[in-house]
Amino acid sequence: MKKLMAANWKMYKTSAGAEQTARSLVQAVAADLPGDREVMVFPPFTAIASVVEAFAGNENFIVGGQNCYPADEGAFTGEISPRMLLDLGCRSVLTGHSERRHILGESDEFVGKKTAFAVQSGLHTVLCIGETLEQRESGKLAEVLARQLKSGLGELENGVNQEVLSVAYEPVWAIGTGKTAGPPEISEAHGLVREILQDILPNTGAAIRILYGGSVKPGNIGEIISLDNVEGVLVGGASLQADSFSQIVLG
Ligand code: PGA
Repeated sequence: MKKLMAANWKMYKTSAGAEQTARSLVQAVAADLPGDREVMVFPPFTAIASVVEAFAGNENFIVGGQNCYPADEGAFTGEISPRMLLDLGCRSVLTGHSERRHILGESDEFVGKKTAFAVQSGLHTVLCIGETLEQRESGKLAEVLARQLKSGLGELENGVNQEVLSVAYEPVWAIGTGKTAGPPEISEAHGLVREILQDILPNTGAAIRILYGGSVKPGNIGEIISLDNVEGVLVGGASLQADSFSQIVLG
């Protein structure tokens, strides 16, 4: 499987700004992109169309939604369905990002519903999980990861594989804080995630990509991407500029 170099633009960028960043990224990276890497960008909904346009013709540049609602359509004011994302040219979606769990109050159960629905709709789904500092300090890392993975994947039918699902491990205390988990912490958590995935998905859990997220930047990508069980990264702050994200993609 290719390493997945993903950018989460959160609630930043107008459609014109997003298009400009996306075009600069293609220009900086497309010619040198190693055959074993692919780029995925999650712009805000309002900028998806312009990023799809900027990536047109580049198979290894994928656009995704930052969220979705688990229904094709209906009376769900303010929500966007997987079918609508596919219609715009998205091939992917994020579920369970910590900002949605902690700021928007999404439960493990709701994240599980979204994940199953998104996968069944045909979007490559990146399920995000991770512990808070308090949970880590009270020795609950393994328990939290197991709970989030079991509820996140619980509604999926057997047969889910690496083509349709990735998992992003993002310790909440390292997101947007400048604090990166060190190699020992990343290795430990990714090892635990791998064990739990193999337990839940005995046939495919070994091949599902596990991404690391949390203050990834050009200066630490080399060390992080070479660790065992790290098959990609999910980058927030350092992905907003084409210059720094292209260094990460190629790093
Ligand atoms: P960060 O965000 O790289 O700014 O820490 C990561 C994320 O929220 O996915």
